[in-house]
Amino acid sequence: MIAILKHGTTEAQTQHLVDWLKQQNLDVHISEGKEVTVLGLIGDTSAVDMDLLGSLEIVDAVRRVSEPFKKANRKFHPQDTIVDVGGVKIGGGSFAMIAGPCSVESEEQIIEVASAVKASGANLLRGGAFKPRTSPYAFQGMQGEGLKLLLKAKKATGMPIVTEIMNISTLDLFADVDLIQVGARNMQNFDLLKELGKTKKPILLKRGLANTLQELLMSAEYIMSEGNEQVILCERGVRTFETFTRNTLDLSAVPSLHQLSHLPVVVDPSHATGKSWLVPPMAYAAAASGADGIMVEVHNNPSCALCDGAQSLTPPQFDQVAQKVRKIREVLA
Ligand code: PEP
Ligand code: MN
Repeated sequence: MIAILKHGTTEAQTQHLVDWLKQQNLDVHISEGKEVTVLGLIGDTSAVDMDLLGSLEIVDAVRRVSEPFKKANRKFHPQDTIVDVGGVKIGGGSFAMIAGPCSVESEEQIIEVASAVKASGANLLRGGAFKPRTSPYAFQGMQGEGLKLLLKAKKATGMPIVTEIMNISTLDLFADVDLIQVGARNMQNFDLLKELGKTKKPILLKRGLANTLQELLMSAEYIMSEGNEQVILCERGVRTFETFTRNTLDLSAVPSLHQLSHLPVVVDPSHATGKSWLVPPMAYAAAASGADGIMVEVHNNPSCALCDGAQSLTPPQFDQVAQKVRKIREVLA
């Protein structure tokens, strides 16, 4: 349930109402916008007298929110959420250009790629250290060593970094990571989500291989319900009957998620397609669809990459993509 307050309601009046609602065993989420303040009521609202609430002098309207996700719901929080990732703002018109290799492989590799993508305008560096691979025999990432190299690249370039966590037991290693990624395979690892909800780190939550938008938003809700509201959603393709592409990029997810939720939405055209030549057109389409960012895999030598070389762009290819994405955003602005 939401209560929309009238313009001009004072802080003291709002607080008085919040206290009264809390006495009814409800959790109250306050969203203060430029125009209106919205109170989101979470808990068993069946006993709330909607007519009484609606008749209060400071209340403009009261509505039930039927969706099971509350904190992620745009009805609770009408204005776009802007997540600050190490000084880089994402959402509400600010665009994230996230680039870097699938996996950190060596100091030279990560520094070289980081410097190149930065020069092309990327504002966040990606690089996997803990890799969720389909085969236990495949390269599993450099793990803790990889994280150290990623931190070196952060220091060398000044770029904030994003990297995937697979197990909460490694959380201490992520102290200097700016944005923690939850990969597609862990989107419904609810214990992991709850623990990340207790941290103060921004979280990049990737859509699961076969998950609906509502399921994605319920996973965001797991993080947010624990107190961490800095969640960025990521569309990275879903599994369909089509086998030509690695996944099927669901770009209608971008405006749909924007309608349902206030959280920023970024698109990963690399894992969505699995083919480097499909990455540029899908990156452009993502920008045109209104995404708040793109995440692109870039490798200095894709044919020798230890992971996902076929979908990785070279630095010059990424440079082209970055330029055109900027132009597309200018046209849409
Ligand atoms: C990744 O970004 O490195 C990754 C493994 O992606 P996904 O979880 O989307 O497969
Ligand atoms: Mn990858």
